[in-house]
Amino acid sequence: MFIEQPPEFVRKLYPGAIWRMDPNEKAVYLTFDDGPIPEVTPWVLELLDKHNIKATFFMVGDNIRKHPDIYQMVVDGGHRIGNHTFNHIRGFEYLSDNYLANTDKANEVMKTDLFRPPHGHMRWGQYFTLKRHYKIVMWDLVTRDYSKKLRGPQVLANVMRYARNGSIITFHDSLKSWNNGNLQYALPRALDFLKEEGYEFKLL
Ligand SMILES: [Zn+2]
Repeated sequence: MFIEQPPEFVRKLYPGAIWRMDPNEKAVYLTFDDGPIPEVTPWVLELLDKHNIKATFFMVGDNIRKHPDIYQMVVDGGHRIGNHTFNHIRGFEYLSDNYLANTDKANEVMKTDLFRPPHGHMRWGQYFTLKRHYKIVMWDLVTRDYSKKLRGPQVLANVMRYARNGSIITFHDSLKSWNNGNLQYALPRALDFLKEEGYEFKLL
């Protein structure tokens, strides 16, 4: 619960960051973190296409450097891009100048006004500086598809339990989510479930 659906006091740590969209609207907002990579991202794109859904991909700059063609596939698909630093670094472990430099470096290869901090945390100094340049997008529901401790059905259960109006939902187009089979199991079923529940899929 604490992880899947962050409680209010956690959300208040970053005032002005976006955790959830309009709670009165029957819509969800899909996001995918940590790509783009050839092993996973094209599979996600194909599935989204099949459902005619647009999503936001918070990308690691270094992955774009390594896989510019996959980055282009995402852009050409009409999806939105967000900055997730160049090396997927943890804010608490970096001096602010270095953290911000890594973020700037990422934006040289993607150009976006959205930012999501890896691991969901930043120092306040980092946050308030970034907030001047980006919309900071967190999440209302993290599926934990990356977890080695969870199996696909549990990841799907997280979506079924915590998705609600305006949820920003986080999956990962990463090898962690892929190699444990969680993404392949949970994502197609989650899309079917959300559709059946009547949610519209909107783009941030
Ligand atoms: Zn990440």
